[in-house]
Amino acid sequence: KDFRNNVKPNWCPGCGDFSVQAAIQRAAANKGLEPNELAVISGIGCSGRISGYIKSYGLHGIHGRALPIAQGVKMANKDLTVIASGGDGDGFAIGTGHTIHAIRRNIDITYVIMDNQIYGLTKGQTSPRSAAGFVTKSTPEGAIEHPLPPMELALTSGATFVAQSFSSDLKELTALIEAGIEHKGFSIINVFSPCVTYNKVNTYEWFKENLTKLSSIEDYDPSNRELAMNTLMKNNGLVTGLIYQNKEQPSYQQLVHGYAEEPLTEQDLKLNDEYFTNLVKEFM
Ligand code: SF4
Repeated sequence: KDFRNNVKPNWCPGCGDFSVQAAIQRAAANKGLEPNELAVISGIGCSGRISGYIKSYGLHGIHGRALPIAQGVKMANKDLTVIASGGDGDGFAIGTGHTIHAIRRNIDITYVIMDNQIYGLTKGQTSPRSAAGFVTKSTPEGAIEHPLPPMELALTSGATFVAQSFSSDLKELTALIEAGIEHKGFSIINVFSPCVTYNKVNTYEWFKENLTKLSSIEDYDPSNRELAMNTLMKNNGLVTGLIYQNKEQPSYQQLVHGYAEEPLTEQDLKLNDEYFTNLVKEFM
């Protein structure tokens, strides 16, 4: 299946987001999906453009709101594979509340974050993922705050699928997105996706030197939540691979009465009309 369209990305040459786009397209193809079985919903930022570059249903939403839209799409049509995507500003600044609530809701969608630790679209300001001391035009003396830890936040919020990858490792990233799509529940995949134009610290070389692959840690067990948290803390969050998965917890969809049988788009809306008409009458 071909998930390429004829829109040419206008990311800077070398931007990590190219690999994320390729990984989503490959994962969807490997899963045997058709373009009309996939919806990619994005927020705002350089990364937010991704929904326009993939041949599928898509919506380039508003800042920090990719997740509410994506959850609505999935609730309306259970047969769609839904991927939400955005940057670290989108998911961990203005959208943090949505991220946490989507995680605890365990709704069956996949969230891919392009984490470049800076605001690229607005030309290089500190993001909630920038390291303390990081110098940008918005923090000329260095960032004072410490960066938000996305994977630790996901674990403590009750996530059932937590993974992290790196734009340079297309094979691992594609496999993790496939596993996220397969997972029955909310899957969060944070991708270190370098901004080659504005972040001169967290470069491809920096990540290659500082990342540890979980597959290289002997006896690492992604079903062990405590081990996952300890490993993250020990490595300052700089690990890649499947960090944690809980296959036992039912998804939101599995718990919503009637959802599994019929998508909302095919339900008899007349019933709902009557319900709402009566409701309005009650208040008149
Ligand atoms: Fe990518 Fe940075 Fe260029 Fe945006 S500014 S397209 S994040 S390299």
